Amino acid sequence: MLTTRSEELMLQAQKVIPGGVNSPVRAFKSVGKTPLFIKRGQGAYVFDEDENKYTDYVLSWGPLVLGHAYPAVIEAICSQAKNGTSFGAPTNNEIILAEKIVNLFPSIDMVRFVSSGTEATMSAIRLARAFTGKDKIVKFSGGFHGHADMLLAQAGSGVATLSLPDSAGVPKAATLDTLIAPYNELDSVAKLFAEFQGQIAGIIVEPIAANMGFVLPKPEFLPGLKKLCEQNGALLILDEVMTGFRAAFPGLQNYFNLSPDITCLGKVIGGGMPIAAYGARSEIMETVAPLGPMYQSGTLSGNPLCTIAGLTTLNVLESDGLFASIVAKTTKLVEGIINQAKINNIRIQTASFGTMFGLYFLNNSAPEVAVPVTNYEEAQKYIHVQRYSHFFHEMLSQGQYFAPSAFEAGFMSNAHTDDDIENTIVAVGNAFKKIG
Ligand code: PLP
Repeated sequence: MLTTRSEELMLQAQKVIPGGVNSPVRAFKSVGKTPLFIKRGQGAYVFDEDENKYTDYVLSWGPLVLGHAYPAVIEAICSQAKNGTSFGAPTNNEIILAEKIVNLFPSIDMVRFVSSGTEATMSAIRLARAFTGKDKIVKFSGGFHGHADMLLAQAGSGVATLSLPDSAGVPKAATLDTLIAPYNELDSVAKLFAEFQGQIAGIIVEPIAANMGFVLPKPEFLPGLKKLCEQNGALLILDEVMTGFRAAFPGLQNYFNLSPDITCLGKVIGGGMPIAAYGARSEIMETVAPLGPMYQSGTLSGNPLCTIAGLTTLNVLESDGLFASIVAKTTKLVEGIINQAKINNIRIQTASFGTMFGLYFLNNSAPEVAVPVTNYEEAQKYIHVQRYSHFFHEMLSQGQYFAPSAFEAGFMSNAHTDDDIENTIVAVGNAFKKIG
């Protein structure tokens, strides 16, 4: 496959954009290749600047659950654009989208729209602090919630500990109140509550840890966090930016029958346009300005192009049987991958949940158990990163676009056909043979 044009564009981009990209993982650094510059997307496919066609399992990192350029979404955006793109004043569709979310999530009475998942989690933490009057927050190692300073922190050596900044430019002071625990380990969280009694405002958690690969919560984990929060006057912030309308419809909290105090949403609720949200019961949301003392704002918050794209996407997704059919496609793909791994004797850990899936290549030190990776520490120990990279290249050369990193989840869309999936499974088999 020739990618000459992408290579030329990358050289040009690197002169004016750091690393040539506007978000680091797009740079393909961990798989060691020049990123593809995408020219257009249609349904399940993206086409690069050299006109190569790929079946897309990245889907803009999740939002495009209906596939690229879904006609109803595009029509809605175009028709809104003719009437104006931004007003900085309230609009009717903000209410309709808010009502939809409130009706679908019993834990949410009110919702505030922002422009990115980062803004949603950052604001949710400010809200938890404002509501409880406490400063400390708990997050999990390997848990990603966007790039707000206080969330760019990771654990030291798998032990719950005070954290150090994970990025240059984040002052120590910004993460001093961020406590880290390993995912799926309730005891570590309980210890933090004991050590920092009366100081913890909340816990922020992904209900499936999908930024360290794809780690499912143990059955007792999320209810246990909720209980610890209740016992300690802290709030549970469920970051459903990725899982919302993806891992389940509407969210994993409904599936797990969990009632978080604050929920963050993003990705699918914008149907490919930049919008995200945080919501909670009224008592908590009344803390937000102009009702209450917690300030949070945004020039483009609740933008009319985003609200209509999101509303249209959710309405289509809600139609009878649609979500279930995307789930079935995801299951089919993962079963095919498992089958190919067996045939080719490749050690993997893979799973799907709703319309998302994950794929780890395991190294020789991974224990012979059903699920060797249950947290970030284990992911770092047991994942064969080079093998994923090799797999990624083999897939790309067969027109299959998987995430350019061993630590990212994969996504399915409504537009993927049975034929697409069968072709992908054949390509997986070929790739497994090559990487042997
Ligand atoms: N929270 C989770 C769980 C995410 O996966 C992401 C992004 O991938 C974010 C928050 C940040 O969202 P955004 O990239 O829109 O800022």
